[in-house]
Amino acid sequence: MFSGLLGTLVEQLRKLPGIGTKTAQRLAMHIVSGDKQYALDLASVLKEAAENYRKCTVCNMLTEYDVCSYCADTTRDESQLCIVQSTQDVYLLENMHEYRGYYFVLEHLLSPLDGMGLEEIHFGALQQLVASRTIDELILALNPSTEGESTMNFLADQLAASVGSITRLSTGIPFGGDIEYTSSMTLVNAFKRRYHV
Ligand SMILES: [Zn+2]
Repeated sequence: MFSGLLGTLVEQLRKLPGIGTKTAQRLAMHIVSGDKQYALDLASVLKEAAENYRKCTVCNMLTEYDVCSYCADTTRDESQLCIVQSTQDVYLLENMHEYRGYYFVLEHLLSPLDGMGLEEIHFGALQQLVASRTIDELILALNPSTEGESTMNFLADQLAASVGSITRLSTGIPFGGDIEYTSSMTLVNAFKRRYHV
């Protein structure tokens, strides 16, 4: 029933996370039958975002600039570095208004069986960044999943000698839970009650 351009549109929308066939069909119909200007604006912002977003050359966060706005902000506290898995985690932590240090985005967690090793978590760049600064507190804000735990253990072992102290978020976040899905209050509490490892 969905052929031609409409069928292609459905197929592309269906590749988005959380979008099943039915939703993709509904969205596609909305795009072609609704406000034409909205559809064209959506297409142009999609193109612009896809073309312009790249990794920050310092912290790996996705940004429109070579160096992201956090790394470029010299008023932040250089004595704190917070390690997160993804750009979304940076936004979540920023929304707390609790933290004024810098970030480093690993992009992946260590998982040798899935081919996720030191290169995938940008360990070399992290080591260089840590060596170039005087860090009092390295905060490991990774999901407490099996991979998250082994990544935090590895980083704590490797970087302990290069930083003043290492902390991680309180286990108010359930084991196997995802930082992304905890309510912002829970995250604020987990962050405030972070402990030394
Ligand atoms: Zn950055």
